[in-house]
Amino acid sequence: MGLSGLDIFKKLPKTNCKECGFPTCLAFAMKLAAGQTSLDECPYVTDEVRAELAEAAAPPIRGVTVGVGDEAFKVGEELVLFRHEKTFFNPAVLGVLVSDDMDDAKVDELLKQAKECEHERVGVMLKVGTIAVKSASGDAGKFKALVEKVKGATAKPLVLMAEDVEVMKAGVEAAGDSRPLLYAATEANVDAMGGLAKEKDLPLAVKAADLDKLAELSEKLTGMGLKDLVLDPAPRKPGETFKDLVAMRRAALNEKFAPFGFPAITFPCEETDDELYETALAAMYVCKYGGIVVLSHAEQWRMYPLLVLVLNVYTDPQRPMAVDSKFYEIGAPDENSPVLVTTNFSLTYFIVSGEIEGSKIPAWLGVVDVDGQSVLTAWAAGKFVPETIAKFINTSGIIDKIKHRKLIIPGYVAQISGELEEELPDWEIVIGTREAADIPAFLRQFSTV
Ligand code: SF4
Repeated sequence: MGLSGLDIFKKLPKTNCKECGFPTCLAFAMKLAAGQTSLDECPYVTDEVRAELAEAAAPPIRGVTVGVGDEAFKVGEELVLFRHEKTFFNPAVLGVLVSDDMDDAKVDELLKQAKECEHERVGVMLKVGTIAVKSASGDAGKFKALVEKVKGATAKPLVLMAEDVEVMKAGVEAAGDSRPLLYAATEANVDAMGGLAKEKDLPLAVKAADLDKLAELSEKLTGMGLKDLVLDPAPRKPGETFKDLVAMRRAALNEKFAPFGFPAITFPCEETDDELYETALAAMYVCKYGGIVVLSHAEQWRMYPLLVLVLNVYTDPQRPMAVDSKFYEIGAPDENSPVLVTTNFSLTYFIVSGEIEGSKIPAWLGVVDVDGQSVLTAWAAGKFVPETIAKFINTSGIIDKIKHRKLIIPGYVAQISGELEEELPDWEIVIGTREAADIPAFLRQFSTV
């Protein structure tokens, strides 16, 4: 049984230092007991207390990792029903399904679509995250050959789909040490499939057409010692799937109902043959509450809007998007190229870097860490100020890369130029444009000599 807020409070430092984001230790304890924050937010909890509070600290929805290496993904660990309450943590993963009743050309085409669907947006790489490999034939040899083919073509994590455990064993063998998700334990095979997942220490999906049965299977598998489960409420009727996903998430978060304390997998590709409707269903499952969403195709037109939706839904609304603080090379700048400085708010960075790129004049763009705020906001907050900018310039290494000492600052902070010159006595501070759109014209007439 979970601990109460007061039980947790008794074990906290009681200093009310606010570093966890809550005004008091008691407020933090209450939120932790409700599963709406993480024990990691308090830096002063000792290891001993951490162990004692493990049950209360565990996220109400377990995090499950699929795959290995750089391409591995984690789903689950969500703490809230609505993103505006806090944030969602582990982005929904989009996948594409291939099966052993497809001919080689079709499989190749789908793998090609998945590979080519990669987009960098505001510094984040958006891509297809998984390939679901299905045994439609029930033939272990065919399934094994397909898994080998897919594994040879991509490092993306795999979902192995077979309900016959002997067929699944062939797929597991072919997948080697790539930590695939096994799909799925059902009422008919739960003992054998659960046994295989436990023996191989692999995550396991659980499938049932109604929630009572799904809860029963989930409980049975956790009783067998399995921890990494993924749930598939599988009525395969869009409206019902949606209602089931919401009910499961509510039960896990509000009632701490352990059998539903796992991420979900959804298959819009199996709910309709209409490709537009399938894409709309996938968007619905990204919003509520598909951890893994498997589609029939991965063309750019359907994946790109879905990937951007994932990015938007899983971006922390309380934290502005920021890029790394450093000097960026725009074009191929050399020792005589202009040096500009701005803030690390993603939008600011991408607009400024885009205008520099458009000018065709290579330049060094320095991005100062101001907690992701725009130029004027950061200046007003005392973050984009001479001391911070000077410290960034002096520690960035830019001095070793250029011959001149001219630094272009945004026109909106022209008022700091005098003070900045005092902080950087070897530099000439040049006031740049107020609007990014004017940067190309400015750079064309600017000279560092
Ligand atoms: S960070 Fe820890 S010690 Fe500080 S207020 Fe939060 S719970 Fe209390």
